[in-house]
Amino acid sequence: MQRLITVLFTLVLVCFAVPAAADNTIENIRMWPSPDRTRVVFDMGDEPVFSYFHLNQSHPYRLVVDFPDTKLNFNLDQFDSNSLLVKTIRTSTPKDTGGTRIVLELDKIVEPQIQSLGPQENYGHRLVVDLPGTSLERDRSALRAEDLQERKVTVAIDAGHGGEDPGSIGPRGTYEKDVVLKIARALASMINSDPAMQAYLIRSDDYYVDLNERPRKAERVDADLFVSIHADAFVTPQPRGASIWVLSNRRASTEMGRLLENKERLSDVLAGVEPAADEQEFLNETLVSMSMDHAMLSGYEAATEVLAELKRITKMHKTKPQHASLAVLTSTAMPSMLVETGFISNPGEEQLLRSNQHQQKLARAIYQGVRGFFMRRPPDGTMFASNRASRHVVKSGESLSILAQRYNTSVTAIKSRNKLSSSVIQVGQVLEIPSPE
Ligand SMILES: [Zn+2]
Repeated sequence: MQRLITVLFTLVLVCFAVPAAADNTIENIRMWPSPDRTRVVFDMGDEPVFSYFHLNQSHPYRLVVDFPDTKLNFNLDQFDSNSLLVKTIRTSTPKDTGGTRIVLELDKIVEPQIQSLGPQENYGHRLVVDLPGTSLERDRSALRAEDLQERKVTVAIDAGHGGEDPGSIGPRGTYEKDVVLKIARALASMINSDPAMQAYLIRSDDYYVDLNERPRKAERVDADLFVSIHADAFVTPQPRGASIWVLSNRRASTEMGRLLENKERLSDVLAGVEPAADEQEFLNETLVSMSMDHAMLSGYEAATEVLAELKRITKMHKTKPQHASLAVLTSTAMPSMLVETGFISNPGEEQLLRSNQHQQKLARAIYQGVRGFFMRRPPDGTMFASNRASRHVVKSGESLSILAQRYNTSVTAIKSRNKLSSSVIQVGQVLEIPSPE
């Protein structure tokens, strides 16, 4: 039997005739995944000279970039790919001695767009490699169709601490991480039983998620609101009561500064539109501060709504939302708040926080506050925006008093809104739910 060895070897060689620059360096490699591409940036010591080719015969597919007479001053071992498209970036034996060969291992075959950029503001020479294709967990463009069909609002629920980080520990040995996970789960189930809302748990079990990663996870699922749940602690047992924290201006300025340094990330904010160089700084600042102002303002509003509900069921430590400089409250994409549900260091409150009944009450109050916020400030394209959130189809086992409690209204208000003469309701009956007071 004749054996035929077929070697499938796709080789595309592209060379650029740029005058040879001797002794160039790669100082840094940065990567920016986005919903529609991954951008890999090589920060160069001098104008880059390069050639590249594909190896597409087997998975992972490879894009090989050769830099002649170039030294790599960057440790690729520390490089952690956060793109679904680029699995890893590594070096390989260079074509010529004194050169550097960089291999990008890719999950899909893509046609790269490569351009070299000259020095600009804080940047020197760069080689920018754009790889088209979804590189984040969820494609934002795919959401647009959903938007048209009156989507649900997504509430990201962040149970504080977890795993090796217990959070604060009460005098009876209660771990904050356990209490807040129970409240977070109760809140998630209330939100998921609301036809206009869905919950996304940042951590659904006992493990740790990096602080900066928490808001990023929420952003990746396009959350409309971020609620972090904690329990307070103090060195003395006296302090007690709940409080809510929102993003402070100081943190915002820091975050804004950080954003402004990252032009590539800003390119995403700017929806891929590159403004003229002289306008860029001004436009960037304006756009970032606009989205920051919006997120901060609505975060404060949401916190005020939740605070009003918490006040009804538990003692408050602070009666107004407090401004904080906390890593979890840094998103410009959505309003965020951090709820301190009580002092776990106070023996009485520790006892309460341990009880399932009180956990349910706290979750209910947060849910009602969040719902009230979306009723007043419905995000575009949501069921809240089209008033469908105020319609309820009666399910088995529900009564007017159950619905009044769930939607934070009264039996009388539901009856009068629906012109009901009795309190008897039937499965399948559609009720208009009045806005909370
Ligand atoms: Zn905490």
